[in-house]
Amino acid sequence: SKQINVALIGNPNTGKTSVFNALTGLNQKVGNYPGITVEKKQGICKLNRGVKAHIIDLPGTYSLNASSLDENVVIELLLNKNDKDFPDIAVVVSDVENLKRNLLLFTQIKDLQIPTILVINMADRMKYKGISLDIEHLEVQLNTKIALISTRKNEGIDYLKQLISNYKDISKNACSNVFDIDKDYFNSLQQAFPNQLLYKLWLVITQDVNFGKTDRNEIDAIADFKTKSKADLKRLQQKETIKRYQFINNVLKKGLTIDTSKAKDLRSKLDRVLTHKIWGYVIFFFI
Ligand code: GDP
Ligand code: MG
Repeated sequence: SKQINVALIGNPNTGKTSVFNALTGLNQKVGNYPGITVEKKQGICKLNRGVKAHIIDLPGTYSLNASSLDENVVIELLLNKNDKDFPDIAVVVSDVENLKRNLLLFTQIKDLQIPTILVINMADRMKYKGISLDIEHLEVQLNTKIALISTRKNEGIDYLKQLISNYKDISKNACSNVFDIDKDYFNSLQQAFPNQLLYKLWLVITQDVNFGKTDRNEIDAIADFKTKSKADLKRLQQKETIKRYQFINNVLKKGLTIDTSKAKDLRSKLDRVLTHKIWGYVIFFFI
């Protein structure tokens, strides 16, 4: 039977490689992407009932607004359905201390309508930082499944494997709607290419990436849609980012609580002292 293609994607230093190692053990090989010196790590993860997952550890990226070769690798894979590595499921690896920033990338990948799950890694740091999460709320708002894990303590890996096995249950729907930032422009874009995903079109317009080798005519047609100046496109892109963060902030209002008074980390407590100056001096004597 066919292997399940899994792409591990996330900001740098969130623990992608640690998750990759936890899933694949010694069943891994390291090579390079053709023509560039970006490392390509792939491995096999054995799931239940003889099912296997083919895992790719992608280079760290903060967003799909690429500015480096490393990031291009991620976008080109996600835009190219013909690539043999095109993921059946994207696993966005985030770290619990930087959830807000990590979720920017998550919402972008969701908008490509690829089944995407969220791994929140470094759960072992939560107590230390006074962090608590409402996973159920986050799952509903982000329209996905979440695995809260710690690769350091080897916790949550089996559940993650279970989610990967059941990738067909993961929603393909986008979780946010960002395209009302310029209704006229995006409506006409969608009408010109009714069979293409709007966010994909937008990435092709704004990013200098390979759209998949088969769509040459379409690429030319899309080039006509760079009707806006580079500066205008940039502004619209910034609006998109702001819109995404508005959505994320809303989700995290109930989904994420940081209680520095419960943190075991002195630095967090001092941050609190510094940000709440009036009470800070009082509290300072009690910590
Ligand atoms: P990548 O850059 O996303 O591939 O991340 P790595 O797997 O290289 O990990 C980055 C850093 O985070 C390393 O120093 C890891 O030891 C650390 N790390 C990874 N997973 C965990 C975890 O579950 N808990 C803690 N506390 N640290 C972790
Ligand atoms: Mg890595």
